[in-house]
Amino acid sequence: MRVVSSNEMKMLERKTIEDFGISNLVLMERAGVSTVEVLWRELGNLSQYSFLVFCGPGNNGGDGLVIARELLNFTEAVKVVLISDLTTNESRKNLEIYKSFGGEIIKISKENILDVPKLLENSNVVIDAIFGTGLSRDVKGIYAEVIDYINLYSKFTVSVDIPSGVSADTANVLGTAIRSDLTVTFEYPKVGHFLFPGRALTGKLKVVKIGMPKILSTIYPCDKLLLTNEHFTVPNRLKESNKSSYGKVIIIGGSKEFIGAPLLSALGAIRAGTGRVYMAGPRDIVKSAVNYEPGIIPIAIENEYFSENDVNIVNNYIDSDTVVVIGPGLGRKNGVGLFVKKIVGSVNVPIIIDADAIYHISNLKDKIKDKDNLVITPHPGEFAKFLGMNISEVKYNYKLVKETSKAYNSIIALKDVTTIISNGESLFFNVTGNSSLSKGGSGDILSGLIAGFIAQNGDVLNGVLLGVYVFGLAAEMYEYEGHNLISEILDYIPKAISEVM
Ligand code: ADP
Ligand code: ADP
Ligand code: MG
Repeated sequence: MRVVSSNEMKMLERKTIEDFGISNLVLMERAGVSTVEVLWRELGNLSQYSFLVFCGPGNNGGDGLVIARELLNFTEAVKVVLISDLTTNESRKNLEIYKSFGGEIIKISKENILDVPKLLENSNVVIDAIFGTGLSRDVKGIYAEVIDYINLYSKFTVSVDIPSGVSADTANVLGTAIRSDLTVTFEYPKVGHFLFPGRALTGKLKVVKIGMPKILSTIYPCDKLLLTNEHFTVPNRLKESNKSSYGKVIIIGGSKEFIGAPLLSALGAIRAGTGRVYMAGPRDIVKSAVNYEPGIIPIAIENEYFSENDVNIVNNYIDSDTVVVIGPGLGRKNGVGLFVKKIVGSVNVPIIIDADAIYHISNLKDKIKDKDNLVITPHPGEFAKFLGMNISEVKYNYKLVKETSKAYNSIIALKDVTTIISNGESLFFNVTGNSSLSKGGSGDILSGLIAGFIAQNGDVLNGVLLGVYVFGLAAEMYEYEGHNLISEILDYIPKAISEVM
């Protein structure tokens, strides 16, 4: 499903109106009526509720007036709260229609703002049609006061298009914002629904069609997509096959300090369905990994940390069928950095650069620019370090993810509650997963999982998308969120894979 910014939405609306002759009034009508349809599907018999509809000055307020008028066909318990004068012809027209239905209107100003809490207490559903995707400045003054009252007193809040105060482009709160239980958005979801804090304020999201011509999405392709199972395929299992049919993964990781990380990564690769999984690391660590899972093929190095001397040992195992993961548990010693540089510089197969390897390549960014098949999987802390920026500058910065993947000719997955993936052309937002993954070691599982999928059919982007999506799904399947061992997530991966086949 495509995800749009406010400007893209504005453009698509304009094209619908100008090139296809569907008027803004018709779009507004469909938006309002579809919202009421969602309301009765979500809430049941609408006559049992009393509605308070807050309308802002623009088209969002106009949508609210259609909703209020349509609700009058179900119940008399509808009141419109106007916060200021209406600024668009279509919303003024819908105010007239609402009035002609006998609809009640309360005008709020500085003088009677203290009536708002009482109104809220006497209603059980609030419709927030204050600001939509057109919000461009911070919310202040009487609008801010009304929004804060709604958050304090509303029993159930439904936002029209996007919670008022949330930026459709960045998901940031502009001043203050509505906290919704349900958001009904039109035609395409917006960036603000999927990144934080907007995603948390959106509540349950429903996307409804308002009749924009389908052909518009072909004429104006969009770079942003919500990651769903239409964007990837699960590698085939063949009747006639053997371990060579399913590729080979080498996990390079581990050090004196970090013993478990490369094991988790290797187990992720095995769960993905990989034919052969190797683990290169300090002897004691690969030994204990093999004790845990005998299917892991060991490549032992003789010191407690990787060094340049180990480059040849590891390279000997890498052939054209191999996918490499480098990073989990490597540590940040300078000697390890020299090893990482040599491996990344010499390998020509797909390579997933994770964890401490991201730290090490931060100093040799130019070297990786001309490499193909590179996947980098940073969390915000690692991405900030890689770019020499602050965490606050990189967090959920999807434009930066796209620019960086383009500049470094690589696929980047910026891991967070919403993970952002780009290949330099498209952007994917992943919303699977939960706090069962908020534990040390989860990212290590993910890097192995991704490598394992790539190893089976060679499709790098497919492997990243499938890996990130399925990893989140596996976490959602664990009962009692957050109380898992991180290794238990591995056991849900097969079921999660079967769900997306
Ligand atoms: P690890 O090696 O376990 O991956 P690091 O110590 O390298 O951990 O990185 C952790 C840093 O990254 C911390 O500063 C942490 O606050 C930051 N970080 C990690 N995840 C997030 C996130 N989702 N949002 C913001 N900062 C994050
Ligand atoms: P580590 O280095 O300890 O293995 P990372 O920070 O590299 O951890 O990776 C953590 C993984 O877990 C990322 O894929 C991240 O998207 C995911 N994750 C963590 N917390 C959440 C959450 N609350 N919801 C969804 N995904 C999460
Ligand atoms: Mg990590």
